[in-house]
Order: sequence, then C-alpha cells, then structure tokens
Amino acid sequence: MKTDELREKYLSFYETKGHSRRASDVLVPTWDPSVLFTPAGMNQFKDHFLGRVKLDFTRATTCQKCLRTGDIDNVGRTAYHHTFFEMLGNFSFGDYFKPEAISWAWEFLTDKKWLGLPADQLTVTVYKDDDEAADYWHEKIGLPTSRIHRLEEDENFWPASAPSLGPDGVCGPCSEIYFHPKGSSPVEIWNLVFTQFNRVGDPPNNLEPLPSKNIDTGMGLERTAATLQGVATNYHIDILRPIVEAAGEICGVKYVPEDDNGRRLRRITDHVRACTFAIHENVYPGANKEKYVIRRLLRRAVLDGHQMGLREPFAYQLVDKVAEMMKAGYPELQETTQRVANVIRTEEENFLDRLDDGLARTEKVFNTMRKDNLTIVDGNDAAELYQTYGFPPELFEQVAAEKGLAFDWPGYKAAMEKFGEETGGGTSVLFTTGPIESLKNTLRKTDYVGYDQSEADVTIKGIVAHDADGASKLFDDYDQTGEAHPLIVVTDCTPFYGESGGQVGDSGEIVGAAFRFVVTDTQKDSDLFLHHGYLASGKISSNTDAKAIVGERRLGIQRAHSATHILHYALQKNLGAHAQQQGSKVDEDWLRFDFTNLAAVTPEQLAAIEEDVNERVEASEKVKWETVPLAKARELGAMMLFGEKYPDPVRLVSMGTFSRELCGGTHLTSTGDVGMFEVISEEGPSAGVRRIVALTGTKAKEYRQQVAASLGDIAKSLGVHTLDVPVAVKELMQYVRDLKKAASGSGQPPEDLRLPTEHAKAAPPSYAAQKETLKETARMINVGMFDAPARIAALLSDIDSLKQEIVARAEIGVLTADDLLAQAELIGDVKLIVAEAPGANPNVMRQLIDQLRKKAAPCAVLLIAGQGEDKVMMVAGLSQDVVKSGGKAGEWVKTVSTIVGGSGGGRPDMAQAGGKDPAKIADAVAAAKAFGRKMLG
Ligand code: ATP
Ligand code: MG
Repeated sequence: MKTDELREKYLSFYETKGHSRRASDVLVPTWDPSVLFTPAGMNQFKDHFLGRVKLDFTRATTCQKCLRTGDIDNVGRTAYHHTFFEMLGNFSFGDYFKPEAISWAWEFLTDKKWLGLPADQLTVTVYKDDDEAADYWHEKIGLPTSRIHRLEEDENFWPASAPSLGPDGVCGPCSEIYFHPKGSSPVEIWNLVFTQFNRVGDPPNNLEPLPSKNIDTGMGLERTAATLQGVATNYHIDILRPIVEAAGEICGVKYVPEDDNGRRLRRITDHVRACTFAIHENVYPGANKEKYVIRRLLRRAVLDGHQMGLREPFAYQLVDKVAEMMKAGYPELQETTQRVANVIRTEEENFLDRLDDGLARTEKVFNTMRKDNLTIVDGNDAAELYQTYGFPPELFEQVAAEKGLAFDWPGYKAAMEKFGEETGGGTSVLFTTGPIESLKNTLRKTDYVGYDQSEADVTIKGIVAHDADGASKLFDDYDQTGEAHPLIVVTDCTPFYGESGGQVGDSGEIVGAAFRFVVTDTQKDSDLFLHHGYLASGKISSNTDAKAIVGERRLGIQRAHSATHILHYALQKNLGAHAQQQGSKVDEDWLRFDFTNLAAVTPEQLAAIEEDVNERVEASEKVKWETVPLAKARELGAMMLFGEKYPDPVRLVSMGTFSRELCGGTHLTSTGDVGMFEVISEEGPSAGVRRIVALTGTKAKEYRQQVAASLGDIAKSLGVHTLDVPVAVKELMQYVRDLKKAASGSGQPPEDLRLPTEHAKAAPPSYAAQKETLKETARMINVGMFDAPARIAALLSDIDSLKQEIVARAEIGVLTADDLLAQAELIGDVKLIVAEAPGANPNVMRQLIDQLRKKAAPCAVLLIAGQGEDKVMMVAGLSQDVVKSGGKAGEWVKTVSTIVGGSGGGRPDMAQAGGKDPAKIADAVAAAKAFGRKMLG
C-alpha cells in the first residue's frame, strides 16, 4: 500500500466512526510557547482536552506534521526515527473511551477492508495497573495474555513516569501496538493514550479520575507504511526512498544502505525534508530557538556532504524532490520551493565559506589536546569555533566524538556567556548536553567482557563528578576521597554488569597504580557502562590503566538469575505454556518473578514447582550461552516475550535441554551451583499476573535453617513435638482467651492447659512439612513466620500474669499463696502445705498450687474446701522433684477423700477428688498432713 493511500484510508476510516477530519496544525506553533515544533497530533487539541474551548465536535481525526528535536541523534542510526514525520491520530474529547479506541484500532489494522495486517504479527503493551485495557484486549479482541505485555510507568504512561514524578495535571496510561516483522525486531507503530486522571501532587501516585475522559492516539505514518510495504526501514518507503536516491545522485555516490555514506544520505534526506517544511512556514536558519534547530540540521547536512567530498552547495537541489514526494498531503509546498531552495542555498554557502578553515581549526585543537594528553574539548575552543567559523557546538561535539574526545558543555556555555553571546539560543533546553551524553557521543559504548570473566585490564576513559558549584562535569583527574564525593567512572571495557533486564548492577573495585576506586553500583546508559562509587584513596586520571575486579556479590546474583530461568521452565511445566514471564528482578541470592496466570498458584502446585526447580539444580545441568541470529533463536524454539524489543543477533542462554531463553544477563556454568532454591511467597500484584519471590544459595540455606529453628523453638517452649505445634497453639490460644475472661471476672477459670502428646515419639518431619507447619502456626496467630516464636513466648508469659489476676480476684481476702507458704511444715527440705481454702473452687486451688510450685519448690500441697452444703473438693499438687522421688498426688487425694465420703485420683504431679461431707473437713486436713509426712519422710 502506498503511503498516500494509507494516510487517506486512516482519515476516512475514522470519518466512518463519526470523527471530524481536521487539518494538520502548523509545524511551528508560535501560539504555543511550551514547544518549538509540534511534537504530536494532540498538540493542537490541548485546550479541547482541558475543557477550555467550546466544542463543536467531540471526535476528531488528523494527519499531523511533527518534528522531534529529541530524535535528531537517532536519525541515520535507527531504522524508524526521523526528525520530521507525520502522525496519524484520532481523538475523543469526553466522548468514547477505551473500548472504542481499542476495537477501532484493531479493526483498522487487521480488517481486510482497511490495512489487513496479519493479527498474529501484532502484540500490545499496557500500563501495568491498567486491568481495564488488558482485559479488553484479552476478552473482547481475543489477544492471548502472552501477547499483552504490562510495562512500567516510564514506558506506558503519558507523560512518562507521571504517577511518581509528575507533572501534576491531566495524564493517563497508554497502550502501544507493535508489529513483528518476520525475522527482525518488533517496531512500535501506534500509541493509544487514555487520559483519564488528574494528578494532584503530594504524595506521589495521587491520581484522581477525570470526570470527562479523553482519547489521544498517534500512529507513525512512515513506520506503518514501512510495515505494509515490507521494507526494512522507513527510509525505503515509496515517498522517502526516491529522495534518498536523488541525494545520492546529487552527491555523486551510490546509495548502499549499510555503509557510512548510506547513513549520511538518509540523514541528508531527513534534514532537508524537515527544513523544507519549516522554511515553508517562514522559519529561517538563525541563532535562536527553532531557527537554531534549522541551522543545526542544515549545517549537519552540509558537513555530511563535505565528508563525501562535496565543496559546493547541494542540499537545496533536493527541495523539489521533497515537494514532489509530499504533494498528496501538502500540495502547498509546491508554491514555495523556489524561496525555500534559496534560503537553504544561502545557508549552505555561508557555512561552506568557513567550513574548511573551521575543520582545520578543529584539527589544531585536537592535535594540541593529543600532545597534552587531554580528553575533554575545552569550552573556549568550542565557543571560538562557533563564533568565528559558524561551527555549531553539536557538530564540533560529533567531530570530536569521532576522534574519541569528549565535549565540555558547561565550559562552552560559560565561555559564550563571557563573550556576552547567547549559547546558540536555547540549545541547553533542546539538546541533552550533560557530561554523560558527551561521553556517550565520544565513546559510543563500553565493551562488556563480564560474561566469562570477573576481572579485566581497563583504561579509564571518563570521570564525572561535581565541581565546587555542585554542577556535574567531566574531569581529567580527580582526587577527593570518601563516600561524600561520589564519582562516575567510565572505562573502555568492563567486566561489571550494568543493571538491565531485571538483573541488578555489579559492585567491586577498580584499582590503578595511583588509586583505589570502590564501585558501589553499575548502571547502563545506552551502551555506556557507568561505574558509580567513590575513591577510597589516591588520585584517578583519564587515560590511565587499571584493573577492574567484580566483587563476590556477583556469584549470588548469578545463582538467582540462573534460578529464574529454571523457575520459568518449571512454571510452564506445572501451570501450562501461558505462564510466561512478565517481569523480573534479580539480586544477590534473591529473585522476584512475575508471570501470567489467572488464578493463585495452589500450595500443591507451588510445592511441585519448587521441587522441579531443585531437581534441576541437583541434576547439575550444563549452562551455555552463544550469540545467534534472531531468526535462528526463534527456530530453536527459544522462549521469547512478545512486545519485547530484541536486538539481532541475540544472546541465547540454554540449560541442559530443558531451557532456552534470550537473555543478556550473567549466569552460572552449571545449574548445580544454584545450591538450593526456596520459594518464600506467592501473590497477585495485578489481575492475571502472579508473583513469586524466592531465594537461592546461601540465603535459601539460611532461610531453611531459620524455619527449622523457629519451629523447634516453639515446640520446645510448649513441650510438644513439632508436628503437634498447630494443635498446641490452638489450645493455648483458647486457654489464654478463657483466662482473660476469668481475669476480667466474666467467666470461670478454665481447666488446666493440656497439650497434645500424639506425636511424642515421631521422627523429626521433612523440611517441607516443617515449613508448612510453621506457616500454619504463623497464620493462626497472625504474624510472619519468623515472628511466631516471640509471639508464642509472649502468650506463655501472659498465662502467668493472668493466673495471678484470677487468684487475686478469687482470694476474696481469705488466702494467698504467701499465706499458705507461711503455714508450710518442713519435711527434710520439702515444704508440706495442707490447708483449707474456703471459697476456692478446684480451678482456683489448682492455680494457687501452680504458683506455690513455682515459688516454693520442692513442695507438696493439698488444698480442700467445701462447695456449698453437701460437697467437698480437694486438689493436690507436687513439684517435679517430689514426683521424681516417688511422691504421688493421685494416691494422696484418693486416701484423703475417703474421709469426706468420696473418691478421686489423677496424675502424680496434680490430682483432684471430691466428697459429700463438709463436716469432716477438719479430719480430712489432719489425715492429709499425716499422709504427707509419711510420703515425704
Ligand atoms: P519511540 O520510542 O520509538 O521513539 P515514542 O514512544 O517516542 O516512539 P510516541 O510519542 O508514542 O512514540 O508517538 C506515537 C507514534 O509516533 C509512535 O508509535 C511512532 O509510530 C511514531 N513516532 C514517534 N517518534 C517518531 C520518530 N522520531 N520518527 C518516526 N515516527 C515516530
Ligand atoms: Mg521517541
């Protein structure tokens, strides 16, 4: 399908859905001070979205001319970025919402009447919490959940990261649609933005639903055309390739897509097209703002031509071709081609006049730097080049970068200010000019050598730190030591893994002859590795050699990472092929793994999954990695996540024959080195997604030890077998509840606590059974597993104080444990206490005896009391040592109860009996004393 046809189809499709077709807004919206160029289709409707204009339509569709300065550096480098491009869009102002936006997008893309793209080559992303959109894609459109990828707010929210970082105001989740060309990486073609919230500031994530919700979508015309035309890059579609070819003819070089000149011709095409549109709108090259952008784009094109050998103006000759290719959408361009070409030609001449001298001057600068072993282009030189030779600093930066030299933006700005000049007018706002950006331009990438080694010889290539004013800048040397002076060090190559793909960054140290630099974390910015840390000692200098040594922690990280692959395999085996990875985080012997599954994973499934992983670990299977073409990896059946952008070639990590994944992370060489795998939780962070947190290696081992120790502690404190702990805890809790009631006066004191003895002699249970038992126990008392022992200890100590309260309440001023103790008769070293306890029931007697046994062991106690007119109760208790030397409470009460006309008995340490004759209590007391003396004597 031709690009012109696509543009027209889109607009008429949305007309059939009740949309008003509106014209593109201008490219340079002078009415909007917040942007230099129109960045997206929605820009002209800002006031509509905010409800600030009276609406005469609530649905609109447009094809908008856009220019994105943020993508300048992507031009020529990626297949799918331009500065100038066209964005197709449909908009709803408080009218339709997600269901229509999604189903129409799908209809337009897949219906044979419209684009007829194969549905199985499309995937989508949604914001991670947007269940509404995910469910709609799944249930109504019928996309399997494996092709709906949930992304974080930095990817799938508009504005990016708004929930946590702001700005306040209208915002919402997005859903992006990707096309997967056969044999290469997927490309984002369409973004649906659901503006449904108003962010109202502190605290973060404070999102209020908007009363009237809006839809804002943007489809890249060139990207979609490239998809339909089956070409590898936007630059080869029907309206762009002829311009590229024409540029080749004018420059006298053959267009070969893969070579340097190929990239130059694409950049010339892009830049001339963008400038043609801007100049058509009377924005001429100049020193400030949008004018400066146009100047910069043109001079870059001129430099590209110069590098291909041209010394005469040439770019202006392309204006006619641009106007011709764009005439279906923008016939008005034809009317100004003469003027536009003249403006471009003048600017070309102007720059070319000074370009040779300027380039000679840059060479001189570079030579002096080389002599002095400097790596950062001085800001004063850059300012001079711009003022005298019209050499834009961004070009200087690029030329310097080709020589491996960095650029000092703060220095450039300071120099321009000193000369009383503006710094290219708003360049600081427009272009990313931090020291890291500058290093990125210079070094492009750090070679990563950490897959197979944990140490490497490196050369220091960049040092970024704060200057005295707190501004971040590049240093040639740095000697402030200590954690208070954080640094970023960049090297030519590194064994340190930079945080990516869910795996955390490495730590360790970089040691040179004159310094020791401690690496606390490693991050990646594009392909540059940033070692964050501080100088422990000495002075670090650019261009010196050092040894980079990754710390031990890496091993734990590798154990966790290899375990995630095994887990992924085990999940699919036990739950089904749908259980695909949705995200992961891998740290030292700790991992978090999110995957698709509708229901919670049952404890049985979880146990089987854990067992399968550990089986693979025990089997010590070989882990291998290799770099293969993406198509080959697909053929080999590697697990691939839809919606994920994969490079080509890809790194394929395989384990035994059971796992093949595309992965950039670091791994063990044998699954056996994982040591042990232990799941510690399973939960559902959002609908249709489950999350497993697990431990490996040392942490898993420690965790297991802690489970066993905690359960052991509890069993010991209760005096029961580990398997009886839950029953014992249940009884303990009931007992404490009853004690509490009695202590507060609203119930009878309970019978003594009897704990189970069922498993008294059983062998210690398996680890799995212990963990289950501890879990169950913790659930019963509502605390975390490892807090259970302390909680049980607290319950046990509650018992003592509750009993004291109960006794205090029951004593009714007659008798206390101390009173009883005062009556004790010493037989050897054993205290014999026999007393009448008027008003006490057997429970109170038992508690008094308990207190005495604690306070006054060794002792033997028998208490007796009338219970109304015709009943007598008695309780006897012996301390443990008395029982050991043969004392029997059961015998005691049996003998004494016959005197009051009753019977009874019980255990040797505690026994109870009753009778019918309260008149005989005094006789019984005498008999009890006599028996006691004999028993102890
Ligand atoms: P990318 O991440 O690929 O740069 P984006 O997230 O910046 O894309 P959006 O801001 O969502 O893109 O813009 C909507 C659509 O416009 C994209 O889906 C894409 O098709 C298109 N698009 C965005 N930037 C460019 C560009 N520089 N050149 C060509 N098309 C673009
Ligand atoms: Mg972008």
